Amino acid sequence: MPSPNARVPIVWHPAYEVEIGPHVFPTQKYRLVRERLVAEGTVAAAELVEAQPATDEEVGLVHDPAYLRKITTGTLSLLEQQVLEVPFTPALRGAAWLSAGGSTRAARLAMERGVAVHLGGGFHHAFPDHGEGFCLINDVAIAIRVLAREGIVQRVAVVDLDVHHGNGTAAIFRDDPSVFTFSMHQENNYPAVKPPSDLDVNLKDATGDSAYLQLLERHLSDLLSRHQPELVFYLAGADAYRFDQLGGLGLSIEGLKRRDQVVFERALGAGAGVAVCLAGGYAHQTDDTVEIHCNTVRAARDAAARPFTPRGALQP
Ligand SMILES: [Zn+2]
Repeated sequence: MPSPNARVPIVWHPAYEVEIGPHVFPTQKYRLVRERLVAEGTVAAAELVEAQPATDEEVGLVHDPAYLRKITTGTLSLLEQQVLEVPFTPALRGAAWLSAGGSTRAARLAMERGVAVHLGGGFHHAFPDHGEGFCLINDVAIAIRVLAREGIVQRVAVVDLDVHHGNGTAAIFRDDPSVFTFSMHQENNYPAVKPPSDLDVNLKDATGDSAYLQLLERHLSDLLSRHQPELVFYLAGADAYRFDQLGGLGLSIEGLKRRDQVVFERALGAGAGVAVCLAGGYAHQTDDTVEIHCNTVRAARDAAARPFTPRGALQP
């Protein structure tokens, strides 16, 4: 249980910064976020936890053997690479396996400490048999399956507040009542086809802070009391920002900060641990994306300083 001065465990890896050429996806954001948090003292460099890659067997808890074979042997078809929308390289594969291991580590730490942040992950567009939209494999789904197999969690909620619908995650857990998938996203945006989550909140273009926060508070409280998760996996996408190149919502940096606070307050208040991953963020100014992600970590730090009674502790 965290003491008042507890720091939030932060998981990351330098290899997340993959070279993908000129691209809207700023993979340098992972390094920039870490550097800013260390420079300001929110995170001590010595306390950073380096992610270890997931094993192939762990990745296989979510993904089909045929798809994994194609990734391992570098034989994705041209169409599969086009749908992925990032160049497929061994470095991308390495970063994806590290991201899955990093989200798994963050989930374990969240169950031990209340809150943990993965400065990476959130690749929610990956399906069991294919990747798309910058997402090769679904790190969050893999982490959930690994912890569930070990009996560490029985009930999990995925709170996906990236501006894009969590299509891959919704499909993976469609028939799994132990995992509640919640996606709040811009309706008129990628992906065109949105397989149903357990709860989808489709937002109109340019939805602003106040309407967004009202909907979030209502739906989050409702799902926490109905599903009673031990763990909330929070995808804190920075792309719900009003100046995002791939987003069309109207949230301000202040509004996004409040969004993060709402998730931590409500989830911890309901006795759930919170594992955070960064997910998307493509602001015109990369500095804005970095600041939004840093705010999420600052909110996590503040939330971790408060007493937390895990739901598991209340049960025999
Ligand atoms: Zn996104």
